[in-house]
Amino acid sequence: MNYKARKRAASQWMKRSGLDALLITHLPDVRYLCGFTGSNAALVLTGGKSVLFTDGRYIQQAKEEAGGTKVVIEKKSAVTAACEWVADSGVASCGFDASITTVAALEGMRKAIPAKVRRRLFVASDAPVATLRQVKDEDEIQKLRQAAKLGCSLFDGMLEYLRPGLTEIDVAATLEYRARQAGAEAMSFETIVASGPRSAMPHGRASTAKLPRRGFVTLDFGVVLDGYMSDMTRTVHLGKAQPEERDVYDAVLEAQEAAVAAVAPGVSAGEIDEAARSVLRRAGLDRWFTHSTGHGVGLEIHELPRLAAKQTQKLEPGMVITIEPGVYMPGKFGLRIEDMVLVTSEGHEILTPSVKAWIEL
Ligand code: ZN
Ligand code: ZN
Repeated sequence: MNYKARKRAASQWMKRSGLDALLITHLPDVRYLCGFTGSNAALVLTGGKSVLFTDGRYIQQAKEEAGGTKVVIEKKSAVTAACEWVADSGVASCGFDASITTVAALEGMRKAIPAKVRRRLFVASDAPVATLRQVKDEDEIQKLRQAAKLGCSLFDGMLEYLRPGLTEIDVAATLEYRARQAGAEAMSFETIVASGPRSAMPHGRASTAKLPRRGFVTLDFGVVLDGYMSDMTRTVHLGKAQPEERDVYDAVLEAQEAAVAAVAPGVSAGEIDEAARSVLRRAGLDRWFTHSTGHGVGLEIHELPRLAAKQTQKLEPGMVITIEPGVYMPGKFGLRIEDMVLVTSEGHEILTPSVKAWIEL
């Protein structure tokens, strides 16, 4: 991982914003910039220097993971230690990420510094590191590719396992056990298994409900490999489908493929959303598509950019996004299809090639 280049990019952003220092307290941002994965950390960038604050539990780990960054071990909270250090260093302005800093945390930051600089030292910034993180470098693309590939092989394996009578929890447990056996550090989020009428819940957690003899099963899951998360959804049908189920599936698949096809540099996030939504509108199903089309994914499951209606942000090569339209008809059924897609200089590449065509088991 090229932490030097990342820290340089963050420092350049800082200078462009007229700031002397940048305080990073969001742990995935700290990891992104210096490699440290401990649970108590704050990173300060200033004048070409980077200083990582953590505590005595992490003396060895910080040294191993955060090479190239000065490490300060403190008994107090890392954020408090970092704030005191910033105030002592005499910088006039220090940015912090207002999008993830709570009111209580900001209060704590202000309390840690002398009263005379309290009013002007900390400057609210809008997601500085999250903005950098949305364009992935080669190392990150490689890791996301591996995670997505593992997700696909797990899904393919589940096709032989799924059958009526299993509980949704059986399905989630088996999937997660196989994921860990295959080397996953963790799941990206709580595995979603939603079957039969429960498939109408976009985020149906695996329950004790049994897979039906006839009906949809939606699997939405991801694995974490080396910190990077995959995210994919496939919906399969158990038993013979009703014509309406088949029609809705075809419409969602067409919407998903239309949105994937639209992915290219310079296209706005809103246009991608509209590519999916317009297909479902024509099919008279758009009122059942109740969420946005996708999101960035990386060290966290939901990152920038957001792919939603009217979003003007343009896609750039190196972004890794999900495309996941769905239709959910309460009391009846629902389904979603989700891929991870890399924006390339020519267009796009699907990182989750598991079959999306209709599957009846
Ligand atoms: Zn998902
Ligand atoms: Zn997703």
